[in-house]
Amino acid sequence: MNNTEGYQATLDYAQQADRTDPLHKYRKRFYFPQHNGTDTIYLCGNSLGLLSDNVQGSIEQELQDWKKFAIDGYRKATYPWMYYQHFFKPSLSRIMGCSEDEVTVSNALTVNLHFLMFSFYRPQGKRCKVMMEAGAFPSDQYAVETQVRHHGLQPADAIIEIAPRAGEKTLRTEDILEAIRLHADSLALVLFGGINYYTGQLFDLSAITQAAHQAGALAGFDLAHVAGNVPMQLHDWNVDFAAWCSYKYLNGGPGSVAGLFVHERYGSDPLHPRLAGWWGNDEKTRFRMEKGFVPQPGAGGWNISTAQVFNMAPLKAALEIIDEAGIHNLRAKSIRLTGYLQFLLYELSNIRFEIITPEDPAQRGAQLSLFFPDRAKQLHQQMIDQGIVVDYREPGVVRVAPAPLYNSFEDVYRFYERLKSLNQDLQDYRDRGR
Ligand SMILES: *Cc1c(COP(=O)(O)O)cnc(C)c1O
Repeated sequence: MNNTEGYQATLDYAQQADRTDPLHKYRKRFYFPQHNGTDTIYLCGNSLGLLSDNVQGSIEQELQDWKKFAIDGYRKATYPWMYYQHFFKPSLSRIMGCSEDEVTVSNALTVNLHFLMFSFYRPQGKRCKVMMEAGAFPSDQYAVETQVRHHGLQPADAIIEIAPRAGEKTLRTEDILEAIRLHADSLALVLFGGINYYTGQLFDLSAITQAAHQAGALAGFDLAHVAGNVPMQLHDWNVDFAAWCSYKYLNGGPGSVAGLFVHERYGSDPLHPRLAGWWGNDEKTRFRMEKGFVPQPGAGGWNISTAQVFNMAPLKAALEIIDEAGIHNLRAKSIRLTGYLQFLLYELSNIRFEIITPEDPAQRGAQLSLFFPDRAKQLHQQMIDQGIVVDYREPGVVRVAPAPLYNSFEDVYRFYERLKSLNQDLQDYRDRGR
């Protein structure tokens, strides 16, 4: 790796980088879990983002308004519950690169994948197949498998999985595009993760979408590991639909409301198939209680139920901080921060591992996946015992994700420093709780 950034493996360097980082000030707005009375080195924002200092107030606001207004809160609350989903649109449209009408928040991620596949996976005759990356997140695999069965098809026939070449760990874009061309006459939908949760590989959504469209198929993406991590241009890339959860880089808290994107060409078609509920109905007539669903224009037409205000209030607060920091500023810092992590990891000689995430910053977000050919779990346990929070995914991978909103260069340096004391040759390092 050439070190054009001038990275140095010293605490001085890391602290100096933090002093000149305009986003460093956000770190103190987050609560870090404790280990032996000090902050853990938390590099797990790809699994669950940290709690920020404005979330409690956001929940309390809703408690107060419920106490004060009860049913009238739908219109009179500080943030009227009737329109609560609107408060997310400006922020999410910037993060996802689309119009405010093309995004909404509702339900949960896998639930939305099902609803969106209902709308956008419409197998017809020979054109019935779904293409996805091999080793997609299990919930996505289950969703696709059961959708395919729901249409009377067999997963083995109807799901095409694209795997890396022999001896390689990640996919080549050219191979994905070639596979799409190869299956052009049978493909109904290409459904990829934006970033693969295991390898950390960021896919070329624009190229995949274009190839899918040329093949006569639609393109949808699961952006769980992208949302709040890498800025998107979903509208301009012509992506048909996307879904994501909000508890990873968006810091919305465990199980927080998910988001979805529907391109305006469908959102403006009131007859586009969907499973509807009254919260997706045109707001002017929602309470007339009349027959005949009239969707709101845009992604809001995919809302179904009453806004889950208490599930949304934390995310509303968390997005305020992301907005203030700016998603493009976050990405710029993230590239440097993850680059620093990679630089330091290459300095280590006491443990044997391979970074399976692409080295090219354009093909990854914040996460680096470290593959340990042996004793991976034991090493992960040694990390935990040192006050490091990173997660382990079978087989053999420790995922490390410095989140640019609250992680510092010093965090990354201290992670490296503690890694230097690990020992891969400890025979029986306890393997607790697994
Ligand atoms: C985190 C994640 C999920 C989780 O789905 P939920 O419905 O929120 O439980 C699904 N898919 C991917 C790709 C993920 O990264």
